[in-house]
Amino acid sequence: MNEFSFYNPVKIHFGKGSIEHLRKELPQYGKNILIVYGGGSIKSNGVYDDIMAILNDLNMNVFELSGVEPNPRVETARKGIEICKENQIDIVLAVGGGSVIDCSKLIVAGAKVEADAWDIVTRKVMATEALPLATVLTLAATASEMNSGSVITNLETKEKYGWGSPATFPKFSILDPSYTYSVPANQTVNGVVDTMSHIFEQYFNNATNTPITDEMSEGILRTLIDVAPKALKDPSNYEHRETLMLAGTIGLNGFLALGSRGDWATHNIEHAVSAYYDIAHASGLAILFPNWMKHNLQVNPSRFAKLAVNVFNIDPTNKSEEQVGLEGIEALSAFWTSLGAPNRLADYDIDATHFEEMVEHCLVYGPFGNFNKLEAEDVRKILEMSL
Ligand code: NAP
Ligand code: FE
Repeated sequence: MNEFSFYNPVKIHFGKGSIEHLRKELPQYGKNILIVYGGGSIKSNGVYDDIMAILNDLNMNVFELSGVEPNPRVETARKGIEICKENQIDIVLAVGGGSVIDCSKLIVAGAKVEADAWDIVTRKVMATEALPLATVLTLAATASEMNSGSVITNLETKEKYGWGSPATFPKFSILDPSYTYSVPANQTVNGVVDTMSHIFEQYFNNATNTPITDEMSEGILRTLIDVAPKALKDPSNYEHRETLMLAGTIGLNGFLALGSRGDWATHNIEHAVSAYYDIAHASGLAILFPNWMKHNLQVNPSRFAKLAVNVFNIDPTNKSEEQVGLEGIEALSAFWTSLGAPNRLADYDIDATHFEEMVEHCLVYGPFGNFNKLEAEDVRKILEMSL
């Protein structure tokens, strides 16, 4: 393991009815609250009404920003920042999935500086302060509810970058699995693919001797492979939804990276693809990850073989580690396809037209990846394998 310091101050309220914690949590931050949400799912599934009833009881002054896009845009965050500055907002409550939460992180940081929001995303301005942020999670996927990261898109310049700061950890997050009953099948699949991808990004890391996080990772992956198809068949089954939700949160709240630095190259390449084509984050990951794995199989075949045997039940008898690893990667592809995830860029009519720009986008901070450093030629190959 590498030496490490661990910090994660997010308080989690998990379970059916946990929205009631808003009553005690919110008043300590002040009266003026900005609710941020997406395209309206929280209105049709009753989450909005649950929250408004509580805010009413608390006599809070409620401001709203709706319409946060999947792959949230910097323009939308700018609108939220303006609302915060004009109305002395005391706390921002993000209600939704990763996009709403990520957008809200930029709002709370942007509200504390004079600089433009995009300068925070591109790290020209460091976000050292932020308004308090709380979240009500409605989609199990990103773990944004329990980390400080945020991913923002600038469609004008075709850029999508991750950024984050210790100041943007939520103060608390409400995780009620029953709020995810209404998540449609394709988004449920996206959530599972994103969670599994976060685990892979950290499983393929820069350290040796990580038995604790390896066991945790393999256990969560096996659980997801078991439960995801069941949740798709029975979307209102509480136990399946709570399993997916906890998996999503642990997937990227820092626990699985204790003692190592994850790779994160595939996320970087995916951001370049969705900056150009605005496809769902997880769809890009489902296409790219198996190809990143194939491209890097030689770097450490025994790591891939361990995953194949422990997670995908591949029989290693009389096979090379490479062969076992490859069968594991194929089993992963087959599993994601069985859930209905895409597996080729062609599924979105994406061809090689913008590959060079995407390669450039990926390399904006230089060669990347902690399991294996990727150069332009590697990215090109992975994109070509994904066509
Ligand atoms: P999302 O983009 O937040 O939401 C996807 C869709 O799901 C939206 O159309 C939303 O509809 C709908 N939805 C959400 N909750 C629902 C519910 N309970 N019932 C019905 N529909 C529901 O999806 P996400 O996968 O959570 O977030 C993806 C974003 O997060 C990407 O931009 C990705 O790059 C980023 N990301 C961030 C991190 C991080 O650590 N911060 C990690 C990975 C990815 P409405 O808009 O109508 O609500
Ligand atoms: Fe992700």
